[in-house]
Amino acid sequence: MKKIPMSRKAEVLAPAGSPESLLAAVRAGADAVYLGASRFSARAGAKNFSMDELKKAAAYCHARGVKVYLAVNTLLFDGELPDALRLVCEACAVPVDAVLVQDMGLAALLLRRAPRLPLHASTQTGVHTVAGANALYGAGFRRLVLARELSIRETEAVHRACPIELEVFVHGALCMSVSGQCCFSAVLGSRSGNRGLCAQPCRLPFSAPGGTGHDLSLRDLSLISRTGELERAGAVSLKIEGRLKRPEYVAAAARACRLAVEGKPVPRRLADGLRAVFSRSGFTQGYADGKRGREMFGIRSKEDVAGADRNALRSLREIYASEPERIPVDFALKISRGEPVSLTAADEAGHAARAEGAVPQPAIRRPADAARCEEQLRKTGGTPFSVQNAVCKIDPGLAVPISELNRLRRETLAQLEQIRAERPGIPFEEAEIPPRREHAAGKLRLRARFRGTDLPEAAKVCELVYVPCTAGPRRLAELLENGFPAAVEIPRGLFGMEDAVRGRLKEAKAAGVSDAWAGNLDSVRLALDAGLRVHGGFSLNITNTEALAWYRGLGLEDAELSPELTLSQAARIGGSLPRGLFLYGRLPLMLCRNCPAANSEHGCTHCKSAPELTDRRGVRFPVQCYGACSEVLNSVPLFLADRLRDVRNQDFGLLRFSTESARETEAVLGIYCSALGGKPARMAENSYTRGLYYRGIE
Ligand SMILES: [Zn+2]
Repeated sequence: MKKIPMSRKAEVLAPAGSPESLLAAVRAGADAVYLGASRFSARAGAKNFSMDELKKAAAYCHARGVKVYLAVNTLLFDGELPDALRLVCEACAVPVDAVLVQDMGLAALLLRRAPRLPLHASTQTGVHTVAGANALYGAGFRRLVLARELSIRETEAVHRACPIELEVFVHGALCMSVSGQCCFSAVLGSRSGNRGLCAQPCRLPFSAPGGTGHDLSLRDLSLISRTGELERAGAVSLKIEGRLKRPEYVAAAARACRLAVEGKPVPRRLADGLRAVFSRSGFTQGYADGKRGREMFGIRSKEDVAGADRNALRSLREIYASEPERIPVDFALKISRGEPVSLTAADEAGHAARAEGAVPQPAIRRPADAARCEEQLRKTGGTPFSVQNAVCKIDPGLAVPISELNRLRRETLAQLEQIRAERPGIPFEEAEIPPRREHAAGKLRLRARFRGTDLPEAAKVCELVYVPCTAGPRRLAELLENGFPAAVEIPRGLFGMEDAVRGRLKEAKAAGVSDAWAGNLDSVRLALDAGLRVHGGFSLNITNTEALAWYRGLGLEDAELSPELTLSQAARIGGSLPRGLFLYGRLPLMLCRNCPAANSEHGCTHCKSAPELTDRRGVRFPVQCYGACSEVLNSVPLFLADRLRDVRNQDFGLLRFSTESARETEAVLGIYCSALGGKPARMAENSYTRGLYYRGIE
C-alpha cells in the first residue's frame, strides 16, 4: 500500500455526505472532512450522520489525524435554535474540530456558549470582501469559506488584509447565485436553499436572448491543477464540493487534490475518472481567472452521465478499497530473560501504547532475533500505521512465537488508535435561551427603493428613499434639498468594487446623506466604517430573534427580515431593534456575478434594455445587471397592499421598485399609501404573488 504523507500544506477538505463517503475521503487522503447531522445541514438530501455515527466518524478520523467539521449551516427559526444548540453541544462533547454556520443568531449563541469551539463562516454567508471578512473575524469567527465567485487575486487581497483563515472551493458544482443569496428554489417550490433543500431549478432550461438555453447552469469548478496558486493566495483549506455525490467521486476528487498539494502529477486515469464520475460538460476555472462569461456555462449531458459507467466506478473504488498506512509509528520490543515480553508503539504526537505477553521460554530450535521480529512488527497492513523505527532489544537464546508477536503488534496498534481518537470535549455552557422579549412595533411606515434617481413626488411620503450609492454627490444633495429622505443603497454584490464603494459612501456622507441600505455583511461593515446609519436589507437573511439582536450589536439602526419567513413568523420575532418586511416588488431570486443575460455575442452591452430569462413554459424572469453583479428577479411582483392587516408587528415596509415604469411606480406608491390609511387596495396589474408570506418554506 502506498504511503500518504501527512500534509503541512493547505488542507484537503472533502465532503462526507454519508459514512461511506467519509471512509472514501479519508482513505483517499483528505486532511479533513465536512459533514452534516440529521438536521440543520445545508444538504438535507444527503444521508448525513446520526449522533452515534458522528461519534464513530470522529474517532475514525481523529485516529488518522483527519479533522471533522460539522456543518450546521442553514437559516434557523426561533423555535429551532434550542435544538440547534443541543446538536452543537453534543458535537462539542464528541468533539468535532469546528462548526460551520450561516445563521448569525446561532453564531452569536455559540460564540457566547462555546468560545473555544472554532467557528467557520459558511459560504452561505456570501461574504466576498475584505470588509466582510473583517466583520466576521472581529465577531470571533476562525475561518471564512469565501464566496465561490472570487478570483485568485481577489482571494489573495482578502488574505493580505484580514487574518481570518480562508477556505476556498477547489472542485465541484458551482451555483449560479452567490450562495446564501438564492431564493429561486424557495420561491418556485417552497424548497429553500438556505434550509438545505434546494431543488436546483436552475439546472432546467432558462434562456436569455442569444444565450445557451441553460443560462442559469454553470459548469463544475476544478482548480486541482492550481492548488499551488490557491495556497500562495492564502487558502489554508481546499474544499471539495459534493455532499450529495457518491463515494467514488469523493475518493477521486480527494486523491487528485492530495496529489496536487503534494506537488505530484495527477495521473491521466484518475483525472479521466474524476471527470467521468461527475462533470457538467467538463470543468471551468472562469472565476479563478476573472474570465466569466459564456464558456462557464454547461449542463450535465448524456455523455457526462454515461461516463459514470460501471467500469469507471469500479476503478475509482480501488482508491479506497484498503486502508492507507499514513501514521508513522515507532515500535520498541523488549524480550528479556525472566520478564514478560513487552511492545510499545508511539506516534509522533507523543501518544504511546504498551502491551505485554508471556515470559519467554528458552529457545529449543531457533532463538528470536531482531531481524525476524522487526519483519513481524512491520506487518501493519489493514491499520492506519506505518512503521518508522522498530527497535528490538532481545536477550540471546529466547523464543517468542510469531503468533505472540503478531498479537502484541495488533494490540498496541489498536490501543494507539483508540488513544489517538480520544479527545477532551470542548466546553459548552448549557443554558436555556432567555425568553424573547416581545417586540412592540410602532405604526407601519413605508420605505421605497429605486433603481435610479428620478423619483416621483409621491416618494416623499416614505420615511426613507433608497437610491444607488453610485448616484453621485451632487444628485444626492439635490434630492435632499428637494425634500426626499434620500439614503444610499449599497450594491448587494461588491465584486471588485469594494474600494470604489468606500469612496462613494464617503462622498455621499459629505453630500449630507446619513443613511445607507446594506444587504450583506460586507456592506454593513463598509457603511458603518463610513459613519452612516445602517439599515439592514432583506438579504441579510434574518430569520430569528437572535440574529436580529446580533445585527443590533453590530450597530444597525434597523433591519428588514428575511422574505423566507411567513408573516406570522415575522410577527413573532422579538427584541427591540426596529424591523420591517419586503412588502412590494419583484423579489430578487438570485444574485449573480456571471450575468445570465450576457451569454449572447453582445455581452452586457444590451443589459440596459431589460433582458429577461424565459423558462420552458414561457414565464419570464427579468434580469437587472449592475455591472459587478446581476439580479434575477421574480416573474411577478409581490403585492400585499390589500393584506396589510396581516402584516403584524413590523415597523416599516419596503417597496422595492425594479422594472416598473414611472406611472406604475406612482400607482403602487398611491395604493400602499391609501392602504395604510385604511382604504381598500387593489393591484393595478392582475398578476402578482404573496411570496412565501403565507405558504412558507420547508
Ligand atoms: Zn449584464
